[in-house]
Amino acid sequence: MKHNFGAGPCILPQKVFKQASEAVLDFNGLSILEVSHRHKDFVEVMDEATSLVKKALNVPSGYSIAFIQGGASLGFVVSALNMMRKNKKAGYIDTGTWASKAFKEANSVGLDASILASSKDKNYAYIPTKYNIPSDLDYLHYTSNNTIFGTQFKNTPQTDIPLVCDMSSDIFSKEINVSDFDLIYAGAQKNLGPAGATLYIVKDEVLGASTSDFLPTYLNLKSHVEKDSMLNTPPVFSVYVAMLNLRYLLENGGVKAIEKKNIEKATLLYNEIDTNPLFRCPVNTDDRSNMNITFLLEDDTKKERFDSLWNQAGIVGLKGHRSVGGYRASMYNALELDSVKVLVDIMKELNRTA
Ligand SMILES: *Cc1c(COP(=O)(O)O)cnc(C)c1O
Repeated sequence: MKHNFGAGPCILPQKVFKQASEAVLDFNGLSILEVSHRHKDFVEVMDEATSLVKKALNVPSGYSIAFIQGGASLGFVVSALNMMRKNKKAGYIDTGTWASKAFKEANSVGLDASILASSKDKNYAYIPTKYNIPSDLDYLHYTSNNTIFGTQFKNTPQTDIPLVCDMSSDIFSKEINVSDFDLIYAGAQKNLGPAGATLYIVKDEVLGASTSDFLPTYLNLKSHVEKDSMLNTPPVFSVYVAMLNLRYLLENGGVKAIEKKNIEKATLLYNEIDTNPLFRCPVNTDDRSNMNITFLLEDDTKKERFDSLWNQAGIVGLKGHRSVGGYRASMYNALELDSVKVLVDIMKELNRTA
């Protein structure tokens, strides 16, 4: 058994892997990989996936769900195009690589987008809190969890401006208030399912309200919502496995229960990083992510031994992103507390045998 701390595509529950593999061989007599997306058996899957998203996140009425291909990277474009209003102005909070890519895409589709606040000055080790939000913005965009740098918004920005959020790496990991947002999008492969589907949760008022001169059918959220995510061939397998994973989440206490477990896992690891003299977390204490934990080894001469210890223990995916260095432990919903204990024990052992 490996302990997968990889940043994405992510670990999913073993039960979900098993059910998914069974459906590859037999989904009502066909393989899930060959079934027509128009067949009622798959239409039921899409309907269930949609209603489980609503149930898991308490999505209020007046919001719609869509599963679309293209990843969160297409979400950068889709969100900008669909949220464009008469002022054609948008504000972005720059908290790292993904946030700044989203910002660039907004400008590329004809918005006058500006960065309202950035934590680039400290290599994105904190979440900016002091900034002005101009009242003439069409929307404000932020990235709730910064997968690469290990920061996470603990509070939703307070504003009357419509809020758009890239929740790719922390959706379903904690309770959220969907009614705070006009648009939420998230690539499936961080906490929801396999790569291929991107989840959109959109306020119905947004649909059809874009002022963009350029809005091809595929990039218009309205076309996807009206066709119940069947505008074209949806990512059938990805949606199927996401549905299985949402069933599993709800059978096990839902988002409220997983949030508690995620806090427990993160507390255990941060506590070790903070008390073990060999390690250090570069992130501002109040802004630390519960999903992606970045940490550095203070003493480079110990690197070889640390790497060999965690490799031997079956840990994978711990290497830090090149823009931070060191290590990154991604601890998505399906990673068990026991896996975190294995890592923490190794960190303790490294210090003991210093
Ligand atoms: C991984 C990630 C993305 C990019 O997702 P793709 O689906 O690969 O386009 C965007 N935003 C965040 C926060 C991510 O973690």
